[in-house]
Amino acid sequence: MLEKEYLGRRLADGPAPVLPASPVDHIGVHKQRDGLYYVGAAPVVGRVSGTRLAALADTAEAHGSDRLRLTPYQKVLVLDVADPEPLVRDLETLDLRVDASPWRRATMACTGLEYCKLAIVETKARAAELVTELERRLGDQRADITINLNGCPNACARTQVADIGLKGQLLPGPDGTQVEGFQVHLGGALSSPRRTRLPSAANPEASRSWRPNSPTSWRTWSAPTAGSAPTSRSPSRNG
Ligand code: SF4
Repeated sequence: MLEKEYLGRRLADGPAPVLPASPVDHIGVHKQRDGLYYVGAAPVVGRVSGTRLAALADTAEAHGSDRLRLTPYQKVLVLDVADPEPLVRDLETLDLRVDASPWRRATMACTGLEYCKLAIVETKARAAELVTELERRLGDQRADITINLNGCPNACARTQVADIGLKGQLLPGPDGTQVEGFQVHLGGALSSPRRTRLPSAANPEASRSWRPNSPTSWRTWSAPTAGSAPTSRSPSRNG
């Protein structure tokens, strides 16, 4: 419609951009082209209080930087630092982790019910709990698993491109009232060949609903390998 009714011509097309070999979140100490360094740190699911932001600004200034960046992965960068190690220590003191666990690095949540008028379910606190639980159970095990939680289908935290995407929705509870739950999406990607695509229309097993705090509805999923279907099970609460 855009081409035929509005433009009267075909849109220009070109080659798809080259995809990075692995996710780039800018966490850690990195050298800039001018010889200075930038330091990337991870708050828990992007939640940072005003008090901590003020402390971050003071910390950056104390280390000679007047440039900060916020990333689409809910991380914070301090730019233009000559000696990064003391800054790293101060950021860790603020619980802005430079040496963050894989789970903290790779879990994001949208604003959710607390501040978004479109939200259906709570996200930030739940995602923070999830990070804590994954760190407790799996520690610093190397993992390359992204988890994105959204409070509604608008997907501001990009359910579609995470290995595990949780899309908030309401579900009927045991007594008939509606309770908070999530539709689970597996294998999201940006056309990356290293991830498995699971379009739900082609494979209805690709999504299921998960309802927090309900002993009967917890599910875990084993990611499918090539040629096999995904599987699910409903473990005990400790499972
Ligand atoms: S995904 Fe929905 S709930 Fe989350 S910030 Fe966007 S509009 Fe709000």
